[in-house]
Amino acid sequence: MYNIVFFSGGVSSALTALWIRNNLPGKLHLLFTDTLTEDEDLYRFLDESIDAIAPDGVTHITSGMNVWDVFNKERFLGNSRIDPCSKVLKREPARKWINARYSPEETTLFFGIHWSEEERLSAIKTNWNPYKVRSVMCEPDSFFIDASAIKTTWYEQTGVKIPRLYDMGFTHNNCGGFCIKAGKYHFKKLLQTMPERYDYHANKEEQIRHRLGDVTILREQRDKTKYRLTMKEFASRSEVKELECHSCRCFG
Ligand code: SF4
Repeated sequence: MYNIVFFSGGVSSALTALWIRNNLPGKLHLLFTDTLTEDEDLYRFLDESIDAIAPDGVTHITSGMNVWDVFNKERFLGNSRIDPCSKVLKREPARKWINARYSPEETTLFFGIHWSEEERLSAIKTNWNPYKVRSVMCEPDSFFIDASAIKTTWYEQTGVKIPRLYDMGFTHNNCGGFCIKAGKYHFKKLLQTMPERYDYHANKEEQIRHRLGDVTILREQRDKTKYRLTMKEFASRSEVKELECHSCRCFG
């Protein structure tokens, strides 16, 4: 039996892998699909986590493109509903890699999804059919941990410092705090904590708008009408109000 964990660089998938190592039979393999848009501290976390988990195997897949390379290649800027970046950099290479090596009969795919966001699982199960998909943090008889305890439990059990983006206020460690699906909260956080990285993405958005026309990642609603909102326009507003947090749904 093979247990493959989609190892994203976040604490939930790392803790999921550790739990599997300690509680389930079978070979444990960690699969990391690199978007080349990641925060530098993600690689430190991956290396130290791998040492702590001691899996039977680790695979690091990169397509050689970052998210902006994908948007330009596909001639489509991702948004909260359509994510060519995740499809090209994560889902497709992961599918190809798994199909070539593991049969559905002997393989279970694990995702670090917490029960508080369990609604994500059904789409993932459909996407990965006929492979069996599990998320042990959604299973009352497996690893039903409180969301607020994930980071401390991880640190207590491994001594591995959590990725720095969490300390900076981000709710995920994907794409260096940038995400086309995560919404204004993350863009505000990115602007406040890493303005140079925000500018990099804002310039990339401006460049692709020259190629593709009036496309934006963000939208806003005024008087019941939706408007496109560029990252530059969003940053230029002197008052970026308190915003609700919507967690990143990458790989979902
Ligand atoms: S984290 Fe967001 S921007 Fe990065 S690959 Fe996933 S959906 Fe795309």
